[in-house]
Amino acid sequence: SSVVVAVDGTSGSGKSSTCRAVADRLGLRYLDTGAQYRAMTWWMLAHDIDVHDAAGVAAAAATPVIESGTDPLGPTITVDGTDVSVEIRSDAVNAAVSPVSTVPEVRSRLVALQRELIGAGRIVVEGRDIGSVVWPEAAVKIYLTADPSARAARRALENGADDAERIAATEASLLARDEIDSGRAVAPLTMADGAAHIDSTHRTLDEVVDLVVGLVME
Ligand code: C5P
Repeated sequence: SSVVVAVDGTSGSGKSSTCRAVADRLGLRYLDTGAQYRAMTWWMLAHDIDVHDAAGVAAAAATPVIESGTDPLGPTITVDGTDVSVEIRSDAVNAAVSPVSTVPEVRSRLVALQRELIGAGRIVVEGRDIGSVVWPEAAVKIYLTADPSARAARRALENGADDAERIAATEASLLARDEIDSGRAVAPLTMADGAAHIDSTHRTLDEVVDLVVGLVME
């Protein structure tokens, strides 16, 4: 009953769709830790905090109340009681979330929240540092990646924007986040010890889900 599945990987590699489908198939809960970092970032922007001022971000990091709903068929995210699930996907949040996520006070606050939710077990958790920092004892760890062009094309499709210019902008935004997430001092994106690497570039969502479900059932 303590099944914890940790899924880390690059931006746009299919983590959310994969994790939700795996959780649904296995009757597990689902936690999107990226949504929590995005909610924190949305609140900073809404309060005119300069996201490149680490001291200012650190000083404010304890204030917003962030709550995650863990139903894989309808995950929710609220800040101070307000549903921000749409707002956290904006271009402004995309551009600001990686800088905010480098701040140690932001990470320690959200990691504590995540450990509280994971503690009850039976959950699929997606992020960048779940298998390495948040829950290294996870029963199954996945490192999910895909080629940048495949990630950008899929993300653009999800957003209903499939023109070449928009795809190029999406790819640039994904790569900019990857670079900051991989290069930061605290909890950089990395393949955790014991993780299985799955490259989704030439696999359908169903194929990736089957692979992950297979690893959980082993
Ligand atoms: O997963 P998603 O793309 O929504 O994550 C948005 C950003 O949140 C990432 O680019 C990263 O900067 C940050 N993040 C993080 N640690 C996590 C999850 C997300 O630093 N566990």
